[in-house]
Amino acid sequence: MKMIRPLLNFAERFPLAHRYFGGMASIIALHRVGEADPSRLAVNEEMKISPLVLENLILGLKARGHQFISIETLWRHLVEGRPVEKAVLFSLDDGYLDNYTQAYPLFKKHSVPFTLYLTSSFPDQTAKMWWFALEDLLLSNDEIRLSSGQVFDASTQQDKMDTFLAIRRLMVSPSTEGRQSDVAKLFNDHSVDWLAYSRQHALGWEQVRALSEDPLVTIGGHTVSHASLAQLTEAALVQDVSGAHERITAVTGKKVEHFAYPFGGRNEARAREFSLLKSLGLKTAVTTRRGNIFPRHKDHLTSLPRISFDNSVDLSILGRPSFPRLVTA
Ligand SMILES: [Zn+2]
Repeated sequence: MKMIRPLLNFAERFPLAHRYFGGMASIIALHRVGEADPSRLAVNEEMKISPLVLENLILGLKARGHQFISIETLWRHLVEGRPVEKAVLFSLDDGYLDNYTQAYPLFKKHSVPFTLYLTSSFPDQTAKMWWFALEDLLLSNDEIRLSSGQVFDASTQQDKMDTFLAIRRLMVSPSTEGRQSDVAKLFNDHSVDWLAYSRQHALGWEQVRALSEDPLVTIGGHTVSHASLAQLTEAALVQDVSGAHERITAVTGKKVEHFAYPFGGRNEARAREFSLLKSLGLKTAVTTRRGNIFPRHKDHLTSLPRISFDNSVDLSILGRPSFPRLVTA
């Protein structure tokens, strides 16, 4: 049934149109922090936000009177019904190496708490980071041929981007079930060195342990495999979620109580997933559905919205009058 929501909820439905950082809190979702490399494919580079932009974002929010809190503090405020205003939370998804080398020093410098939602196969170096392997294949070939006979053009930069997106759809879309093996065979035919990608891009367990020992950092779960949970059976979902938590706890000695859904959109995290995560005893779980946090989220602790930031972030959203002088590198 379609519900007509009152106009008063405009700010909740369109947080960006109305107010970027509104409600009682906003959870910012980031993936990577680093300078974009123009010689690479934009589709992967867009996962990055530059250190300069991140630092200016922190300074701009501070200047506007926002307070930085942890996910644990937000959870406490929500369940206890205690008011908090203008709170901002930072989160980093997946477990990229630059989270430690680029993001952590900045958060530390400004005493900003953050949550790292970790896919445990990243530090375990068992993740197949196919998006980097595919990028390399596209950058060094003029066409991509699947064993099914399907041929993709990769002659121009635009063709490479289009082909990347077409093959990504084969990898992640439920409607293409069974086609993943075609792509797996492609990587096999090119003898992709998966371990090399993990070493280059993924956090190691030593770094995860070091981060977990800093009171500024919360290590949250993001599954073992980074599969879309909506595509898994209930048993497989529990295994994928809990397996990562057990791995993280074994290394950090801390219980995992906060979680982020892989992909986290409307097709990957729905009612079944929200209630399963709740039944697993998680305090909070965040999606990539866009929105700010309001007191009513007390009843939706395992489906909290976030605001995703990438390379295209425009800091003018913070408002010029209160915006401090830009830090220059
Ligand atoms: Zn992710």
